[in-house]
Amino acid sequence: MHKKIQARRKDCKENHRHTVGTSIHGNYFLSHCFLCGVCGGRLCGQTTTSGKGYRTRYYICSTHHNGDHERCPTRYTIPADTVEPHILSLIKRDLLKLADDPQLQEYVAEEIARLSGNDDDARQQLQRRLAELDQQTAKLRDHLKALDAVTAQALGLYDEAKTAAEERKNLEAELHRLQRKLPQLPDMRDIAERSRQEIEHMDDIFASGTVDQKKEFVAIYVKTIEADPNAKSVKISLFPALFSQILAGEGFEPPTSGL
Ligand SMILES: [Zn+2]
Repeated sequence: MHKKIQARRKDCKENHRHTVGTSIHGNYFLSHCFLCGVCGGRLCGQTTTSGKGYRTRYYICSTHHNGDHERCPTRYTIPADTVEPHILSLIKRDLLKLADDPQLQEYVAEEIARLSGNDDDARQQLQRRLAELDQQTAKLRDHLKALDAVTAQALGLYDEAKTAAEERKNLEAELHRLQRKLPQLPDMRDIAERSRQEIEHMDDIFASGTVDQKKEFVAIYVKTIEADPNAKSVKISLFPALFSQILAGEGFEPPTSGL
């Protein structure tokens, strides 16, 4: 008896899979960053199944789908099997460039040098200002020693000393922040190697990862994707692959969480 029920349940499930019509699915890794250009809402995934059992995956506007036709009047569909591979190919192209394109590598190396240089400049400037402040404070102390308290206060010297002390504290905090901000920029060989690893990581995820892993990966590289049904176009905005990797890894670790 129990077996029969199980068998029927199984049947039911299989039948359900071949049901003609539409259903909303979670298996769409762009849904968290794909926006509707008409209403600004998120797109969600929809699977339609034809009479012959062919399934087609689409992204559709969730606002329209949920019945708010005032905010988003037009129903439109974007085939997932077109847009998904396209986005992935863009991310991969960027990563491949970082791994293999000598011209880009040269450019990145220059950028890194410039960034590190600027940072050093900022650090040096702060340190110079700190030294100045220290001198100023020392001078003020001399004055204060030579004057009696009432005269000193009348001249505003106490206030000046207090301001100098405050500025020093702020500068020290800023210096500390700068020293933490760009710990150590990697050199170009590291970047090329990491990019190669990242491509392998990407291939693994999209061959056999979970939807959450795919979403997590996409979130690192894709800023937004916006569907514009009126212009019949999809606007894609990616984070630069290099900085995506730097930011994702706090320093420069490839994003490997979840594997
Ligand atoms: Zn919409």
